[in-house]
Amino acid sequence: MRKNKNILQDTFGRQHTYLRISLTELCNLRCTYCMPAEGIPLSPKSHIMSFDEIYTIAKTFVDNGVTKIRLTGGEPLVRKDSEIILKKLATLPVELAISTNAVIVDRFIETFKSCGIQNINVSLDSLNAEKFNQISRRNDFEKVFKNIQLLITEGFNVKLNAVLIKGFNDNEIIDFIKLTKILPISVRFIEFMPFDGNKWNKEKMMSYAEVMALVNAEFRHDEVQRIKDAPNDTSKNYKIEGYKGSFAIISSVTNPFCDSCNRIRLTANGRLKNCLFSSTESDLLTPLREGKNIEPIIQKTIQSKFKIRGGMDTLKKLEEPELHGKNRSMIAIGG
Ligand code: SF4
Repeated sequence: MRKNKNILQDTFGRQHTYLRISLTELCNLRCTYCMPAEGIPLSPKSHIMSFDEIYTIAKTFVDNGVTKIRLTGGEPLVRKDSEIILKKLATLPVELAISTNAVIVDRFIETFKSCGIQNINVSLDSLNAEKFNQISRRNDFEKVFKNIQLLITEGFNVKLNAVLIKGFNDNEIIDFIKLTKILPISVRFIEFMPFDGNKWNKEKMMSYAEVMALVNAEFRHDEVQRIKDAPNDTSKNYKIEGYKGSFAIISSVTNPFCDSCNRIRLTANGRLKNCLFSSTESDLLTPLREGKNIEPIIQKTIQSKFKIRGGMDTLKKLEEPELHGKNRSMIAIGG
């Protein structure tokens, strides 16, 4: 139910129908590629969107054509009023989804069902409890794994997101894929990306090509089936013949998928990012609190979107710390 002026289309003709809202900068894990060891300077509480402000801003986007909203964080479920937010957003004509680390997701099963949430992305970077504890700096592996199985039993569509870091969990790629033999899930391997404070360098990254080389070495050629990607999909999807689930690779570094990008992000302190990698952002919260119309700001932000990766259109540019370092840390964006 888009208004007549199309404020969500950029200069490349990409229609932005998918809004990712970060509910909080807080998290109950401390994953090394997401959260700097020393943590991040948190925004003052008064700078964080209230549930009413989240609803008002979300409704503005939905009124202008957004059809999908994903809630992220930090960890969205640690926000004390996350249930209220879910229920308010569920009143909008939009597909609601959530990304969580699943540590406390068992408390929200009925809420998810009452809000019509079907699609749940769970971050899980290792199937090994010790390694999980090492990368998350918390020892919640058993709880997370049990909750993943609970989500599957309860009938949710579960995707597991694993950030691959060479020398850490690249030796688990086949184990993760073999998990899809028995579980109807999609395991998505994410190329390690540079964000503020995550000590990224290209040598640590496991590329799409390297993952597929491992897969083709493990499985017969005819067993590895390429399955159709959904429109605007960020991942390249595959399935092993006869397996219940599937696997995919999200290759933002070596094989970006920006041509069909339909995503925009709203940070917990009400800033609009037109790209995951953009180092510029627009404040929607202050003008909203001043009773101003935020649509012109949204349109200007979308119109200023680069074609590829916030302007880092070559790997060389992406590798430059002074370019990627200007962005927020992942915890403050919400993926
Ligand atoms: S890098 Fe930016 S433009 Fe490319 S797909 Fe991601 S959000 Fe979209």
